[in-house]
Amino acid sequence: MQSIDEVLGELPMPPYVTAEDVTFAVKAVAVHAAEQWPDGLRCRNDRAPHPCRLHRWGRRVLDQRGLTNGQIQALIAEQDASQR
Ligand SMILES: [Zn+2]
Repeated sequence: MQSIDEVLGELPMPPYVTAEDVTFAVKAVAVHAAEQWPDGLRCRNDRAPHPCRLHRWGRRVLDQRGLTNGQIQALIAEQDASQR
């Protein structure tokens, strides 16, 4: 059986990554974080095998924007803090 990921393929990237896209991407990566399940890592949000489509999309947008891993982690931490 095909997974939903294989059927739908990758989400399209915005043609030009704006600051707003970065905000969405950080949110996607933060919300679609990995969670340990008996059969491996799954998305905390949609239970798809991690990294799920939205997580991958978020990482691609942030990569395109030229953010380093450290900068991405800092943005996620910032967003987590602002939601508390
Ligand atoms: Zn997800």
